Amino acid sequence: MEQKMNKTTEINTPILEVDNLYVHYQSEGQKIKAVNGVSLSLGRRETIGLVGETGAGKTTTALAIMQLLPEATAHIDSGDIRYEGESLLKKSSGELRAIRGALISMIFQDPMTALNPIKTVGDQIKESLEIHNYDHKSNAELEKRVDELLELVGIKAARRGEYPHQFSGGMKQRVLIAVALACQPQVLIADEPTTALDVTIQAQVLALIENLKEQLGTSVIMITHDLGIVAQTCDKVAVMYAGEIIEDGSVEEIFNGKERHPYTIGLFNSIPKLDDESTRLSPIDGLMPDPANLPEGCPFSPRCHQCMDICRKVHPDVTYHEGTHRIKCHLFAGGEK
Ligand code: SF4
Repeated sequence: MEQKMNKTTEINTPILEVDNLYVHYQSEGQKIKAVNGVSLSLGRRETIGLVGETGAGKTTTALAIMQLLPEATAHIDSGDIRYEGESLLKKSSGELRAIRGALISMIFQDPMTALNPIKTVGDQIKESLEIHNYDHKSNAELEKRVDELLELVGIKAARRGEYPHQFSGGMKQRVLIAVALACQPQVLIADEPTTALDVTIQAQVLALIENLKEQLGTSVIMITHDLGIVAQTCDKVAVMYAGEIIEDGSVEEIFNGKERHPYTIGLFNSIPKLDDESTRLSPIDGLMPDPANLPEGCPFSPRCHQCMDICRKVHPDVTYHEGTHRIKCHLFAGGEK
């Protein structure tokens, strides 16, 4: 009971907050609106699932949190990102380097390209420790820590001298996790950490993240388009579409709530149900709108089967709010079909 209360208290104290964030890219004279008013609050030891199709703005949100947006093309228009109550947007590049990896770390989407091909995996993990001056350890202690991290992610320490091309996709992803966890970050952003992996390795990587969360008390943002992964690993869910969160709440509220955003319904309907042979995968019709040319009203209106007149003209704000469950859709504002 006491343990449960402690966990509740920890979750209620946000370690990371994203507040009404707007990000755009400038490309070939076009303004590409990638993130449009995203707000998130990540509690300690909590996992938030950020779900949605490719192009929804999930990775841009993550890169903004990491302060790793491409400087030449990306611009944060407004909003704030706070770690432990302090704005990351006001930190110097030196302060951000100290935060990245040591306090907030990211597992990048593609293990095939995220590792340096000409450095051994051991050196890449060690480098991550050195960048953050890991507890001012001696070289021997750093080497020992590299071995521990490799073993932690299920790779024999004896393979520390091998290069990325000598590892399978799953093993490379584990190396990336070891790099990301080298300094025991307080916040881990996992961007589609299992997309490139087969089902068995997927399960191992997810179990590994879950174990590390328990062992190290890390909070996690799990970026995925896979609702099965969300159900398995997350406490809260934020559904993103066209750069904004159109529905969020606890896993229970999103999976079993009495109301849902039409896009979320579409996402759930697109999951094949293995226990029912008559059920076929039904993908959502149409494509995500062009972020350089978003519709005037609801961004989902061109694809929505329940679209009303108002939807094409007026952008919906939060219209449904029950517990922590929030939905942006005119259906819940008493709109007429
Ligand atoms: Fe569909 Fe209108 Fe709701 Fe948008 S606001 S999801 S178009 S019903």
